Amino acid sequence: MKNLFVIGNPIAHSKSPQMQNAAIKAIGLEKDFFYDKRLVTDLSEIFEDFRKGNIFGMNITIPHKIEATKYVDELTKEATFIGAINTVFISDGKLVGHNTDGIGCMRALHEKNVVTKDKVILIIGAGGAARAISMTLGLHAPKKIIILNEFLDAAEKLCQDVHKNTAVEVISGTLENIATVLPAADIIIHCTPIGMKGEPPLINVKELRKDQVVMDIVYPTTDLLKEAKEIGCVTVDGLAMLVHQGAEALKIWTGKEVPVDVMRAAL
Ligand code: NAP
Repeated sequence: MKNLFVIGNPIAHSKSPQMQNAAIKAIGLEKDFFYDKRLVTDLSEIFEDFRKGNIFGMNITIPHKIEATKYVDELTKEATFIGAINTVFISDGKLVGHNTDGIGCMRALHEKNVVTKDKVILIIGAGGAARAISMTLGLHAPKKIIILNEFLDAAEKLCQDVHKNTAVEVISGTLENIATVLPAADIIIHCTPIGMKGEPPLINVKELRKDQVVMDIVYPTTDLLKEAKEIGCVTVDGLAMLVHQGAEALKIWTGKEVPVDVMRAAL
């Protein structure tokens, strides 16, 4: 049996095992692969276990995504820029760290037929997820990316890094700039935890237009998405991103295309 794990602290709430095991069954690999969750505080111990061959693949979640980069032998190009990993796999005897969050976001947008090329994309937040998303979208020729964050220094740093690595036009600001830039945005992607506990959206929803796309990576859903949907906007939820980043990880481990509808249904 090839053991797959999601590791984090806390981890009890994670629905990744049910999502991944449903997909593993759907592709007929349930006799070969099993996915479980493991509470991990000490990364050195779990990576030692990995190197001994007791683990076939790993997903990494909060708070280990950045620290885990120190325990692998190589990082993919995206993971190097993002500076964080959420997936680990052995390739040619080396532990390789991947980051599938950005591609998960992109596929979730594509699923709703949203085109990012030549579009103005407003990203709210400048943490790990915003970093993965802006890097990946930046590599797919948007017209412009606008990054707004509570603290300007984090938005500025991310803005510089995206520009350096993708050559796309990127501007930064604080959350106070939301109302000013909102009319110019074709796609709005909310990447802070606001809304998880029912907090009011950072965007004044009344200012949205129905031709704008609104994505919220907080899952399962938020007031921002419910209200944007009522206006008539195309909306993309965090569950779609969760499913697609998980599907990409499973593809890295098994080499197989994974049925995302089965994964979503399992959640
Ligand atoms: P993170 O690295 O901790 O970054 C959090 C971001 O939110 C930072 O930009 C932070 O700004 C901002 N923020 C935090 N509290 C805020 C507040 N009260 N008001 C305004 N801004 C605030 O976290 P992350 O990994 O990017 O995750 C962000 C959210 O996305 C979490 O809810 C996470 O569960 C979710 N997520 C979903 C998926 C998915 O697959 N759907 C994947 C990854 C993450 P400052 O630094 O300026 O405070």
